[in-house]
Amino acid sequence: AQRSLVRLRRLACETSDHVPIELQANLELPFELPMIAQSGASGIGLMRTEFLFMNHETLPDEDLQFTTYREAVQAMDGDPVTIRLLDWGGDKQSDASGAAELMPDVHEPNPALGLRGVRLLLHHPALLELQLAAILRAAAYGHVRIMIPMVSSLGELTEVRAALHRVWRRLQAAQTRLPAELPALGVMIETPAAALIARTLAAEAAFFAIGTNDLTMYTLAVDRSVATANRLYDPLDPAVLRLIAMTVHAARAFAIPVSLCGELASRAETIPLLIGLGLRQFSMHGGAILRIKRVVRTTDLTEAQTLAAAALAAPTAADVHALLT
Ligand code: PEP
Ligand code: MG
Repeated sequence: AQRSLVRLRRLACETSDHVPIELQANLELPFELPMIAQSGASGIGLMRTEFLFMNHETLPDEDLQFTTYREAVQAMDGDPVTIRLLDWGGDKQSDASGAAELMPDVHEPNPALGLRGVRLLLHHPALLELQLAAILRAAAYGHVRIMIPMVSSLGELTEVRAALHRVWRRLQAAQTRLPAELPALGVMIETPAAALIARTLAAEAAFFAIGTNDLTMYTLAVDRSVATANRLYDPLDPAVLRLIAMTVHAARAFAIPVSLCGELASRAETIPLLIGLGLRQFSMHGGAILRIKRVVRTTDLTEAQTLAAAALAAPTAADVHALLT
């Protein structure tokens, strides 16, 4: 089985009727980098940056962030690296780290609904600008895209973009080595609000990445951190699938790329359904790439579209699961 996976690496990633599908990798910790570079991934679709802030007594400075991002960019050798701005808060905070000081003094009874992701960044503009500066400097060494987590309104995108332009001009004035052009700025679609205003966001964003881990939690109002213990947490619920479909339609209407980077992307049985919903790009754990590629190559687009239509019309998650078996 291992040998056939290795052989698979050389074959095109396309459906049985030759629709190209792009598979990228999620990077959570730097030690995964060599594995990802070897995985057959065509880029990094989600570079989580929380590790820089975890278990450190102080906040990472610009140079440490720069060298960390540059390492990923150079390892991918021209393939895109999608660096997600810090997504602190919610289930991702750690009281033991220096980043704990970023969190509000007021105790939030529902951290998942509070100051997290882009909200926290806009609350700490210096932190946002420091990270943007480090990313822009790393972008001079390859292909970088910048992604905003936990967006729930258009204003969050326009405010981050304003900060990006500010930092760009400041670095230019200081004659810092920069890429020829500003990196693409995209948003994660991981709140129901973002999916519902996807057309508004698509008019302004360079790309979308659907985060089904959070989208499922916020749509179904079920805590993701107790997901395994909770059968209510189901990304295949028709409510979640409809938001995914809306997002894909909006991205298509505005001709921007859209990928799916939640855990759902590494579940083999769901790939035909997701392709049927219109997705052509996925980002997942590097170790899952070849396994998923094998599924892609046996998927027929017309059958996948029929499956997706049935799933969107299904009354319950159980009905969707029945369609997949
Ligand atoms: C998601 O929410 O689906 C996602 C990819 O982001 P994270 O798991 O880091 O919250
Ligand atoms: Mg998320």
